[in-house]
Amino acid sequence: MYQSKLFTKTIREAPRDEQSINAILLERAGFIHKEMAGVYSFLPLGLRVLRKIEAIIREEMNKIAGQEISMTVLQPKRLWEETGRWSGQLGREVMYKTGHGKGEVGLGPTHEEMLTSIIKGYVQSAEDLPLYVYQIQTKFRKEPRARSGILRGREFGMKDLYSFDKSLENFKKYYQKVKKSYLTIFKECGLEAIITEASGAGFTKEYTHEFQVLADSGEDEIIYCPSHDFSQNKEIAKVKAGDQCPVCGRKLKKGKSIEVGNIFPLGTKYSEALKAFFKNKDGQEKPIIMGCYGIGTSRLLGTVVEIHHDKNGIIWPLSVAPFQVHLLALDLTKERVATKVAQVAEEIYQNLKKEGIEVLYDDRQNKSAGEKFVDADLIGVPWRLVVSERTLSQDSLEIKERSREDKEIVNIKQAVKHLKEKIKT
Ligand code: ATP
Ligand code: MG
Repeated sequence: MYQSKLFTKTIREAPRDEQSINAILLERAGFIHKEMAGVYSFLPLGLRVLRKIEAIIREEMNKIAGQEISMTVLQPKRLWEETGRWSGQLGREVMYKTGHGKGEVGLGPTHEEMLTSIIKGYVQSAEDLPLYVYQIQTKFRKEPRARSGILRGREFGMKDLYSFDKSLENFKKYYQKVKKSYLTIFKECGLEAIITEASGAGFTKEYTHEFQVLADSGEDEIIYCPSHDFSQNKEIAKVKAGDQCPVCGRKLKKGKSIEVGNIFPLGTKYSEALKAFFKNKDGQEKPIIMGCYGIGTSRLLGTVVEIHHDKNGIIWPLSVAPFQVHLLALDLTKERVATKVAQVAEEIYQNLKKEGIEVLYDDRQNKSAGEKFVDADLIGVPWRLVVSERTLSQDSLEIKERSREDKEIVNIKQAVKHLKEKIKT
């Protein structure tokens, strides 16, 4: 994409009403636009990252037999009354409600009620199970503490998967599968998540599991083993920092963290309340055994920024970067070389695109080299490619990785092939 055509512009100053690194950098670089506390629009660069994160998640969900659907945001009050959650804490304090009388609806903060009610119409016998269904969709919650940028939105993206099994044994196997799949997703996004035991929040007496990424800006606190084989949320922890890890004996640590995902055994809470039964082999009616599994997609994007940045801007991991290469054409104000630089850069741009490489091409005429470098660092594309009077005098281009200090000079003819090899490995 030509940067001259991108409608967003970078901002020098940090927005006054933001304290969190993710919001400051993402707004300054033009990835998101703040509408009000906890409510952000995604602009072209931000949406590209979000779509990549969603694609990584979607691929993993499909590998574990997930069937994708899209449920409505508007949810009938009736369903929420059947489970008692309409007048419960979630319904009273978290759910946005709109409409009057019989037309009153809730804006989905989560979708257990709705999906269970959909599913039960299609499940008769044990043969209809298991079912694994997910969606990637916008959720709405009244969050009084919306101060962490896109880490805690009042409107935010979530992937929510729900499992429907006929036996506890099968459910447990699937639960372990999701655990693995989640670790793969976070790793692919450039994050090391620690599986952390947490309380069931009224859903279950057993532990639930959170996926926590260590970060000073996190709202959670965990007691964890440095080898990541054990971790408990401080809210429920039976251990403290300095204790021995019950798994490997190493000394436990305490750290702030961000919850990027969590998984819950739901048992038969929703299937019983909403009468989602199946007939087993003996013809007996049994409630379906359920689990739910969430990942905050927009929070995940914010977490990547919290982890991968420096004082100059964002440093996107290649897997989720808005573009793979940022091509900078310099010296476009210098009459004697402008045409040549523009011509070489355009050619490189077209060749990179032909190779299937995603390129942001800074073709802006009136920006100085300094301004282009500052913007490139802020936006954080992993590979920077520079064409300038100086590089052309050596028939070459300059290649630099956003995460490194050193630069490489490569002959123009080899540049595209060279870069392609670096990106594909
Ligand atoms: P938290 O404790 O952070 O409020 P939660 O326990 O309410 O999270 P769930 O309801 O299980 O979270 O939602 C699943 C996932 O959605 C969370 O793990 C988190 O990644 C994400 N999430 C939850 N609330 C928000 C929010 N307000 N903004 C952005 N992402 C969120
Ligand atoms: Mg919450």
